[in-house]
Amino acid sequence: MSVEQNLTEIKSRISSACEQAGRDVDEVELIAVSKTWPAEHVQKAVDAGQKVFGENKLQEGQEKIPALSKNLTWHYIGGLQRNKVRKVLGLFHVIHSIDSLKLAKYTNNVAADMGLNPDVLLQVNIGDESSKGGFSPEELEVSFSELLELKNISITGLMCIPPVVINSKDAAVWFRKVRELRDGLEISHRIKLPQLSMGMSNDFETAIAEGATYIRVGTSIFGAR
Ligand SMILES: *Cc1c(COP(=O)(O)O)cnc(C)c1O
Repeated sequence: MSVEQNLTEIKSRISSACEQAGRDVDEVELIAVSKTWPAEHVQKAVDAGQKVFGENKLQEGQEKIPALSKNLTWHYIGGLQRNKVRKVLGLFHVIHSIDSLKLAKYTNNVAADMGLNPDVLLQVNIGDESSKGGFSPEELEVSFSELLELKNISITGLMCIPPVVINSKDAAVWFRKVRELRDGLEISHRIKLPQLSMGMSNDFETAIAEGATYIRVGTSIFGAR
């Protein structure tokens, strides 16, 4: 199947998942994860009308973002080291992977220095896995007041990569935990955290049923890496 056909199919699956969940399809943004693919392959998705893309490495962004249309929105979804923050902020529009209070403070300082106020999401290590980055739910609750004081980053929501499960539907419990964590933070801090970045090729329908607003889909659009 072509990239164009894959996109058509994914969009129809998003529509069905939204319908089943009683949600408006406009609430779910498809992020096409183009990591490992060269600009020419990504261009096929652009030609098919896709405007929102995700990358997990600065270097790939540096190659592809300047090579493709200026009308695209780029989400940074990979692990972020401090020494890359300035360049990531210069290229990407949204960061999904702020995974500690320290990184949030650092990013805030760099954004202030650059005169920016980027949208960011806080990555949650919802399964408390040692192999994964992110705030534990407890850390996030403890740090949240301090996070809200950072005026040069706009925290719009939470992101997660849940533990591996055998059946994609089993991811629902993890996605629900992230949503409930978000709901709790909204109530206790009287703020809005509208975005939930969760769901990939294997489990995006389950994520939509649990409230995802950003789904990050790579393989099902571009092919196996
Ligand atoms: C690679 C990646 C994805 C996309 O995964 P697929 O299984 O290819 O859809 C989503 N999120 C993150 C953080 C990734 O690194």
